[in-house]
Amino acid sequence: MSLVFDIDSVSLPVAGTDLLFPVRRVYCVGRNYVEHIREMKEGDERDPPFFFQKPRDAVVGVDAVVPYPPLTDDFQYEGELLVAIGKTARNVAIEQARDVIFGYAASVDLTRRDRQRESFKSGKPWEIGKSFDHSAVCGVIHPVAEVGHLLAGNISLAVNGKRCQQGDLAQMIWNPLEIVARLSEQYLLMPGDVIMTGTPAGVGQLNPGDKVEVNIDTLKPLVFTIGPKQE
Ligand code: MN
Repeated sequence: MSLVFDIDSVSLPVAGTDLLFPVRRVYCVGRNYVEHIREMKEGDERDPPFFFQKPRDAVVGVDAVVPYPPLTDDFQYEGELLVAIGKTARNVAIEQARDVIFGYAASVDLTRRDRQRESFKSGKPWEIGKSFDHSAVCGVIHPVAEVGHLLAGNISLAVNGKRCQQGDLAQMIWNPLEIVARLSEQYLLMPGDVIMTGTPAGVGQLNPGDKVEVNIDTLKPLVFTIGPKQE
């Protein structure tokens, strides 16, 4: 018997360098743009942010072919700004959060919307809708030293060249600094943690063969394709 498993580490490239950013945890913010809350017809627009996680090995990178997952007929994209944490943080104030963030990237929170809605209605955990294999697509990380803090700027997502989501980072109900401050009340944040910060309006379905592109302000676009349906 052997307990030497072949478990891959997960890392993301850092723009303009040969460095790799090792991923520790993947946090996600639910309902952070008012127009998206309205299109989902769920939740209170003034609620504090809430968080969920995806497993680290759900992360896939730039130019990936993401399998269409099993157990859904309503596989959806959510284009999001990703925050990468570079320092240990616990109970940090909003202004301190500036020093905790290493950088930013484009990302997509892939969702089995049918399963998520069922979980929501029945009051069950929504892992099946949110935390499945290959569900966290993450782009190249741009250090704060290069791009500053992304508190405003365009965010858009296109499928097969057609723009589906369009918003501005300034429309976030809770901005990245506030998100880091809040999350650090719940968890000890560590270097390598990443946070998907919620999606603007315009979410919709993906199908096998679709090409997805996320553009955020001055960041490198995140491009990937959807592969065949998995059984
Ligand atoms: Mn999301």
